[in-house]
Amino acid sequence: MTDPRVFDETAVVAIDGPAGSGKSSISKGVAARLGYGYLDTGAVYRALAWSILEDDRDTADSTAALSAFESFDVTISLDPSHFAIAVSGTDVADAIRAPRVTAAVSGVARISRVREGLNALFRSLVAQSGRPGVVVEGRDITTVVAPDAPVRILLTASPEVRAARRSAELEGQDAAAVADALRQRDASDSTVVDFQTAADGVSVVDSTHLDFEQTVSAVLEVVDQKMGAHHGR
Ligand code: C5P
Repeated sequence: MTDPRVFDETAVVAIDGPAGSGKSSISKGVAARLGYGYLDTGAVYRALAWSILEDDRDTADSTAALSAFESFDVTISLDPSHFAIAVSGTDVADAIRAPRVTAAVSGVARISRVREGLNALFRSLVAQSGRPGVVVEGRDITTVVAPDAPVRILLTASPEVRAARRSAELEGQDAAAVADALRQRDASDSTVVDFQTAADGVSVVDSTHLDFEQTVSAVLEVVDQKMGAHHGR
């Protein structure tokens, strides 16, 4: 159950979108400009998938996933200028971006008890952030994790542009294989949560024809509009 009260003290800017939409870099940029924290929920799903793979278990095996989740000891930084994530004290910031983790993460994400547990963790990280606000990015932040957030945005971009951006990030990997992996992950993820269409009250920012700075500005414009309305301005 969502408890909107936990966010009373901390303003949440909720940003959802598919892989390669630029969510992470844009969310970090927006958080830095607002003096807010930044929470990458996908990184936590990845960290859980990483721990299951480290135990030589299959992420599609829900028993293995649930047992890994029970002992999952994750710490994540909310500092937009310094990303850090560790599992039981081991730095996994790079390891969670490995193709084997990317390929396995959707398996973990489809287990509803895992999602409920992680959502509770995300809400408590926000509530205890000690910051005036947190930009939270993922797939179901606008709809499930923080449906009452004052600012809810769906960040989109055309499939071609998303594939090109992801492939530029993953230097050295075959562009066609990257595009294919992205398509497969989107298809699998969208059977669990709908992050392709904006729910009621969610603002769409399409970054297909925008560069980084323009997209950050477009998001900040929505924040300004919505926060102003939220504070009765
Ligand atoms: O955002 P990123 O691509 O790093 O997310 C990795 C995976 O975590 C997604 O492919 C999806 O399976 C899962 N995820 C999710 N819900 C979120 C964030 C991520 O299911 N809020």
